[in-house]
Amino acid sequence: MLTAIAGINWGDEGKGRMVDLLSERQDVVVRYQGGNNAGHTVVNSRGKFILNLLPSGILREGVVNVMGNGMVIDLEHLCGEIGRLRDAGVSITAENLKISDRAVICMPYHKQQDCLEEDRLGDAKFGSTRRGIGPVYGDKYLKKCIRMGDLLSPEYCKKRLSGIVEWKNLTIEKAYGAKPLDGEALWQWLVTYGAPVREMICDTGLYLANALREGKRVMLEAQLGALRDIDFGIYPFTSSSSTVAAYGPIGAGIPGAKIDDVIGIMKAYSTCVGEGPFTCEMFGAEAERLREAGGEYGAATGRPRRVGPFDVVASRYGVRAQGADALALTKLDVLSYLNEIPVCVAYTVDGKRVGEFPMGETLDRARPVIEYLPGWHCDISKCRRMKDLPQEALDYVRTIEGYVGCPIRYVSVGPERGDYIEMEERT
Ligand code: GDP
Repeated sequence: MLTAIAGINWGDEGKGRMVDLLSERQDVVVRYQGGNNAGHTVVNSRGKFILNLLPSGILREGVVNVMGNGMVIDLEHLCGEIGRLRDAGVSITAENLKISDRAVICMPYHKQQDCLEEDRLGDAKFGSTRRGIGPVYGDKYLKKCIRMGDLLSPEYCKKRLSGIVEWKNLTIEKAYGAKPLDGEALWQWLVTYGAPVREMICDTGLYLANALREGKRVMLEAQLGALRDIDFGIYPFTSSSSTVAAYGPIGAGIPGAKIDDVIGIMKAYSTCVGEGPFTCEMFGAEAERLREAGGEYGAATGRPRRVGPFDVVASRYGVRAQGADALALTKLDVLSYLNEIPVCVAYTVDGKRVGEFPMGETLDRARPVIEYLPGWHCDISKCRRMKDLPQEALDYVRTIEGYVGCPIRYVSVGPERGDYIEMEERT
C-alpha cells in the first residue's frame, strides 16, 4: 500500500504533524525531494522536534525511514540533525534510517553560491533560504554532483570532486570574484560528515520495491506544497524540485509504483514564506493577529510568514496538481478568535472575476475577492468528534470542502498527536 502526503498550498501546511500522526499506520516513511531548506515541526510526548532532512517517521519506533534519490543532502546538516535527535533519546541506526545511494550531496559551495547570487540580486532577490538548494539541483541536471553512493568508493569520489571543483571555480572565483574553492578542504568535509552516515547508504529503491511486494505500508512525505513545485508552482518563486505527489515514486526510487492514496494537507488559512505573488495576503493589525494566533514563523529560518485567509483559487489548483484523494485541514483552532472568517473565494484580474489559478504576470495582477463566514468564537482544541464541533466550525469545513471539490478526511485542532478529528463518511 503506497500513500502520499502532499502539501496543497505554499508549504508549512502542517505536513510534519500529519505524517507523524499517520505514520502510526505505516511501516516505512520516505522523503522524496528537497533538502534542508524547509522544516517540519513535530510535537509529541518526547518534545518538540524540527526536522529538516529526516523523514517524520524517525520519531516512531518500528518505522523505517528512507531518504530518497530525489533529495539533496547537506551532510553536515544531516549529521547535526541526527545528533540532536539522538541527544533527545531518539534511536537512529542503519535499521531505521536508509539513505539512497543516488541522492545528491549538497556541498558547502552550493550554499556559498546561493548566498553570492542572492547578494548579487540585491532588492530583486528570490528570498532563497540560502541553503544551496537551487544551485545543487542545477548541478544535478548539469551532471556535476557527488552522490551519496560515491562516498562508498573513495578513490572515485575524490577524483570526481577534483574535476567538479575545477569547474565550480569558474563560477565562484571567475564569475563572482570570490576566493577559489579548496579541493582538499572539501574532500575532508566529505570524509568527516560522510563517515557517520556511511552505513545507512544503500539502494533504497530496491529496499522499497521489496517492502511493497511484501505488503508493507509505505508513505511518501513531501517537503513543500504544490505552489512551490518547480513546474506547477509560482515560478520563479518555487523550490527547485518537484514537490507534487506524482513525483513521489520517482524521487523515492520506485518509479513504476502506483500511489493508492494521496492525502493533501491544507491549512485552514494561508501562509507563505519569502517573496513572490501571494494574492490573498493580509496586512497590518489583522495580519499580525493571525500570525500570532498561528505562530507563523518559519521552522527552518524563523522568518515571519506572510499570512492571509483561506485561498479557494490556489487551494483548488493545489488539490488538482496533487491529484488528492482526500484532505487534512490543519490549524482550524487558530481561527477561533475571529468573529467572522474571511475566505478568498475568487480573484479579479483587470476587473474580471477569475476562478482558476493564473500564472506569471497575470498572477501578479490578481486581486482577492473576500467573503466572510460566521466564526465560532470558542475553543475547539478539545473536540475529538465531528459532533463536538460548533455548527459554524463544521460549516466552515464543509464550505471549504465544497469549494475545493475534495473530501476533508481529517481536521486538526491542535499541534499534539491526538488533537484531531477524523471526519465521518457522509451518508
Ligand atoms: P510543515 O512544514 O508543513 O510541517 O508545517 P510547519 O513547520 O509550519 O508546522 C506547523 C506548525 O503548526 C507546527 O508548529 C505544529 O506543531 C503546528 N500545528 C500543526 N497542526 C496544528 C493544528 O491543528 N493546530 C495548531 N494550533 N497548531 C498546529
